[in-house]
Order: sequence, then C-alpha cells, then structure tokens
Amino acid sequence: MSWTAQILTLYPDMFPGPLGGSLAGKALEDGIWATEILDIRNFARDKHRTVDDTPAGGGPGMVLRPDVVGAAIDAARTKAEETWPLVYLSPRGRRFDQAMAREWVSCGGVTMLCGRFEGIDQRVLEARAVQEVSLGDFILSGGEVAAIAMLDAVIRLLPGVMGKHQSAEEESFERGLLEYPHYTRPQIWEGREIPAVLNSGHHGKIAEWRHKKAEEVTRLCRPDLWSTYERRHKT
Ligand code: SAH
Repeated sequence: MSWTAQILTLYPDMFPGPLGGSLAGKALEDGIWATEILDIRNFARDKHRTVDDTPAGGGPGMVLRPDVVGAAIDAARTKAEETWPLVYLSPRGRRFDQAMAREWVSCGGVTMLCGRFEGIDQRVLEARAVQEVSLGDFILSGGEVAAIAMLDAVIRLLPGVMGKHQSAEEESFERGLLEYPHYTRPQIWEGREIPAVLNSGHHGKIAEWRHKKAEEVTRLCRPDLWSTYERRHKT
C-alpha cells in the first residue's frame, strides 16, 4: 500500500500543490505515496455550511467548531490505519524535525488536521487525543503550508523516491551534524578555487575532510546541535 497523507482542510485545492511537481510529484504518480483530502466544510450540518463561530469569552477572529472538526476527524480515522499519527499543525506543538519525518515514514501514513482562523476548539483536540506539531516559532495563516513542508520532508525519505539511498544518509541532521559544503565546476570561479583535497581522488582523505567540515559548520552555525553532538561523540 502507498504511504498515505490524509489531510483535513478548508482549502482542499491547496493539495498536492508543490508536492505535485518534481521528486514528490513523480513519486505520487508512481503510487509510492497518496493523498486523501477531506474538506472540513463537508462536515458542517447547517444549510450555510458553517464551520466556525466567534470565540467564547470574546476577542478577535473565529474558531473552528468542535462538532464539525470532530465529525471530520472521525470520518478520516475510520479510513486510516491505526499506526498513522493523528496530528494538528499548530504553533504550540512539538517542533517538527528530521527524526519525526523518519518516524512518520515508518508509520505508513499520517492524518493531518489543518487549522485556520484563530484555531480549533480545545475540546475536540483533547477528546480525539490529537498530537500537536509545529513547523517553527512563527504564525502561519493556516496549517496547509506547514503540512506541505512536513510532507515534503517525509516523501523524499520513502523507499524509491531518491535515486541514491546514500544521499539521504549523509545529509544535515541525519547524524546530528549539518552537511559539509558542496562545490562543482568551474574549477576557479571569481578567483575562488575548489578545495584541493576534493580534486585529489583520494576517497579516504575526502571523507575525512568532509567530516571535519561538517563538524566545523555545525559548531559555527548551530551551537545547540554541536553541544549535543559533542556530548554524544567526544566523551
Ligand atoms: N491564534 C493562534 C494562531 C492561529 S494561526 C495562536 O496564536 O497560536 C491559524 C492556523 O495556522 C492554526 O490553527 C494552525 O493550524 C496553523 N499554524 C500557524 N502557525 C503554525 C506553525 N508554526 N506550525 C504549524 N501550523 C501553524
């Protein structure tokens, strides 16, 4: 079975969006992954198809109703495998990272609930034990863009999506380090040369140089990652 992204959204036309092109688009055509889009509005019960209402206690904006969102989640989950995490894209959630992307790959799919407006009634999040996951410390206007970014990270890890398996394993975050810098032709560009070791043809030396650079880049760019790495590897 294809790895499946179930998406609950008020904007079904946003999918697959950029995931319909390039690497992810090819994998979608090949059936490596699939989408199941549920339009939250189809679960509204009144004739105006209302999905939101004003916040209890007052204040600006609108809040997605628990009855409508609950019905949408229940419809999705009857078609989902039990192993698929049920997540709400939310700025207060656990920060998405490469390890979570790998974990989702192994789950076979994910159910993603995209919020809009001020967010979703708290009761339905609790009642359905929804996990909250954030793309980062900033506010988006809806969960869709966050879902697309996370799915992009997951899809490229699915077996058969990337040409060489190795190219994923060497990448930033996979070993707790950022990646070494890359170079390609021309050999000299604006007076800057490609580091000589990369032209030496000596695989051992090249690997050693890349590892050193990866450590250096991590130490300079991400001291937080570096201290975790040091604790794990250098003691
Ligand atoms: N009032 C909320 C923000 C609502 S933004 C607050 O202050 O926390 C509207 C929707 O966008 C949210 O329901 C959520 O689904 C999505 N969203 C916003 N920022 C996000 C982020 N950093 N990561 C994931 N989803 C986000």
